[in-house]
Amino acid sequence: MDQGTVKEFIRPSGDDPTSQWQPGDAWLAGGTFLFSTPLPDMRRLIDLTSLGWPNLVVGPQGLQIAATCRVVDLYDFPPPADWTAGPFLREAVDSFLAGFKIWNNATVGGNICTSLPASPMTTMAAALDATLEIWGPGGSRRTMSVPDFILGNHVNALQPGEVLRAIDIPLESLKRRYSYQRFTLTKHGRSSEFLVGTSDPAKGDFMLTITAATSRPFILRFGTIPTADELHAAIDNGVRDGDYFDDPNGSPAHRKHMTYYLAEVIRADLAGEA
Ligand SMILES: Cc1cc2nc3c(=O)[nH]c(=O)nc-3n(C[C@H](O)[C@H](O)[C@H](O)COP(=O)(O)OP(=O)(O)OC[C@H]3O[C@@H](n4cnc5c(N)ncnc54)[C@H](O)[C@@H]3O)c2cc1C
Repeated sequence: MDQGTVKEFIRPSGDDPTSQWQPGDAWLAGGTFLFSTPLPDMRRLIDLTSLGWPNLVVGPQGLQIAATCRVVDLYDFPPPADWTAGPFLREAVDSFLAGFKIWNNATVGGNICTSLPASPMTTMAAALDATLEIWGPGGSRRTMSVPDFILGNHVNALQPGEVLRAIDIPLESLKRRYSYQRFTLTKHGRSSEFLVGTSDPAKGDFMLTITAATSRPFILRFGTIPTADELHAAIDNGVRDGDYFDDPNGSPAHRKHMTYYLAEVIRADLAGEA
C-alpha cells in the first residue's frame, strides 16, 4: 500500500546509517511489513538494503547473518556438513506464513524487528543462542540476547535511531543436536506454538526455546536432559499464565496446553526416548 505521509527516501552513504536518523524515520528493509499497514507517523524511509552488509559470513566463531540478509538467501545457504543444527536455518524459514512475494523481499532483521510472536527468524535466533548486534547514533554499539531484545507482541528493545546490524550465531550452537515442534491451526497457517530443543552432544545439556506460544521468547536451560517432571516444573516456574499469547491462532489456554505437550515431545526425542 502507499504510505502517503512519507516525503523522503534516503539511500545512506557509507555502511552506518544511524547518523542520518531523525524522528519520523523508519528503517526500510524488505518493506513487507512497512507497506502492509497504515503508519501515519512515518515521514522518511531510510533504505538499509543499499548498505552492502555481507549477507552470510562463516568464520571461526560461527555464522554472522546481516540484518539485511533476505530470508530467501538464508533458505538457499548450504551450511557446512559438520553443523548439526545447520539444517534448522532452512527449516525455520520454511515456517514462514508467506508467499514468494514476501519470501523474496523480507529480511532476517526485518522479521526480528517486526517482533511478532510468530516471527520465525526470532525463533531461529533464540534457539541458536544468537547475539544481536545493535548500532546507534553517535557510533554507539551494544549487543543483546534475543529474549532480552523481544519485549512483547510487536515490541522490542530498540531505542530511537538504533538499527539491528547483525545476528551472530556461535559455532557451539550450530554443532548442537536439535529437535523442534511447531503447531498451526491450518496447514500453511501462522505458528501458534514453535518450540525448539537443543543439546550439546559432549555435555549432554538441554536448552528449550519457547516461541509463538508466548508473547516473547523464553529459554529454559538444564545441565542435563531433564526428566518429564523436571521439565514440567521448569515451565511452571519460567512461564506465567499471562505470558501466553492470545490471538485468533490460539487462546492462552490452548497455547499453554500445547507448550507442555510439545516440550515433552522434544525432550523425549533428544533423550532418545521417543
Ligand atoms: C502476507 C504476509 C504474510 C506474513 N507472514 C508473516 C509470518 O508468518 N511471520 C512473521 O513474523 N511476519 C509475517 N509477515 C510480516 C512481515 O512480512 C515479516 O515480519 C517480514 O519478515 C518483515 O521483514 P522486512 O524485511 O520486510 O521488514 P520491513 O517491512 O522493511 O520492516 C519491518 C519493521 O522492522 C524495522 N526494521 C527492519 N529492519 C530493521 C533493522 N535492521 N534494524 C532496525 N529496525 C528494522 C522497520 O523499520 C519496520 O518497523 C507477513 C506479512 C505479510 C504481508
